[in-house]
Amino acid sequence: MSDPADPAAAGAIRTADVIRRKRDGQELSRAEIAHLVDGYTRGQIPDYQVSAWLMAALLRGLTRAETAALTDAMLHSGQVLDLSEFPAAKVDKHSTGGVGDKTSLVLAPLVAAGGLVVPMISGRGLGHTGGTLDKLEAIPGFRVDLSIARFREVMRACGCAMIGQTAEIAPADRKLYALRDVTGTVESPFLICASIMSKKLAEGIDALVLDVKVGSGAFMKTDDDAAFLAQLMVETGRRMGKKMVALITDMSQPLGLCVGNALEVDECIGVLRGGGPADLRDLCLELAAWMFQLGGRVASVDEGRQLASQLIRSGQALDRFRQMIELQGGDAKIVDDPSRLPRAKHTLAISAPKTGCVSSIECEAVGIASVVLGAGRERKEDSVDPAVGLVLHKKVGDRVSAGQPLCTLHYNSNARAEHAKRLLEDSFRIAEQSPRAVSLVRRIISESAS
Ligand code: URA
Repeated sequence: MSDPADPAAAGAIRTADVIRRKRDGQELSRAEIAHLVDGYTRGQIPDYQVSAWLMAALLRGLTRAETAALTDAMLHSGQVLDLSEFPAAKVDKHSTGGVGDKTSLVLAPLVAAGGLVVPMISGRGLGHTGGTLDKLEAIPGFRVDLSIARFREVMRACGCAMIGQTAEIAPADRKLYALRDVTGTVESPFLICASIMSKKLAEGIDALVLDVKVGSGAFMKTDDDAAFLAQLMVETGRRMGKKMVALITDMSQPLGLCVGNALEVDECIGVLRGGGPADLRDLCLELAAWMFQLGGRVASVDEGRQLASQLIRSGQALDRFRQMIELQGGDAKIVDDPSRLPRAKHTLAISAPKTGCVSSIECEAVGIASVVLGAGRERKEDSVDPAVGLVLHKKVGDRVSAGQPLCTLHYNSNARAEHAKRLLEDSFRIAEQSPRAVSLVRRIISESAS
């Protein structure tokens, strides 16, 4: 890293000039971007200058070369893992975030049971979306803060490990992400691409399957925006020599039936047992199939689907989940007895006001309702309540009679439940007609597509 405090080493780059040039829509050089990222990571460039630059980048956009330079600078702000000790292909999946989006908990053990290595470094809930780490921590005792050495040991023992971003991995993203979260600069495809790809490329993977969510519960609300982000990330990964595919998948309603940390763990156990809601199960099989195909475990995605189904049917995927939980300090008995998971003290059903067909569910509002209940964070320093959340009884296209429950809240605070109830009552639309069905996987952007 160049030292931005030393004008000679930094090539006399001035931070104010970098901000001004981006503000005016000019293309920044690699050195200018590295100056900004390195200086900020080391605490030598203050928040206010980086905030100004982020806003300029959000409004003006970045070129492909700038996006590549930003990703590189963020990736090399920390350690890049070398997992060459593992002979099998190293494959991961990353989702851009949604409501009830819990596939990682199924995929890591499932794909490891198929013989690939899954080094998964995940995040916490963000805004109205849930986070893998918060879900894992609903398992009593489960540790997501493993050292890199222990992360390797767990992978050696069971083929997968799931941890949070450590101080060593892409520290620039940790700082930049926190700043973006409070400066209205999250929703830039270029910044999202650099943020996600810098973390994922630091994992030492060979291949990455991206689940780019689109719809009212996703950060990308339109198909075009989701496709643009997907293409950008696929290109970025390919340029770094990784096998890449992006599935653009529906987030116009929650995935599965459960939203909330312990409830979602329970639902994942259901999928690993061969059950669970159809949309969640199908998406897990699809993502696993692509992971197997990119990792060279199977010749086709079809074969990948068959392998994934067989690993679930045989109980191997569930065994792997049990093993991973134990290795990461968690109570593995929850797999056979989910009643050991944290449970909320109270439940409250929300009923349909009329008879008809559920025509839409305002997905972001459902996510916000779960945050209000305490399943996510209103502020960065908040802690989450692992037990609370909600269970949907009706999804889009289902018929419902007046008075039948649409969903059930699981809560520990009356005031929070009242607020969440209001949000949820407004979230379900009931109409005479069934809505047009949307497919779960809207589009696939593969290596050859870019
Ligand atoms: N997830 C990330 O890790 N980074 C982003 O910028 C958005 C979603």
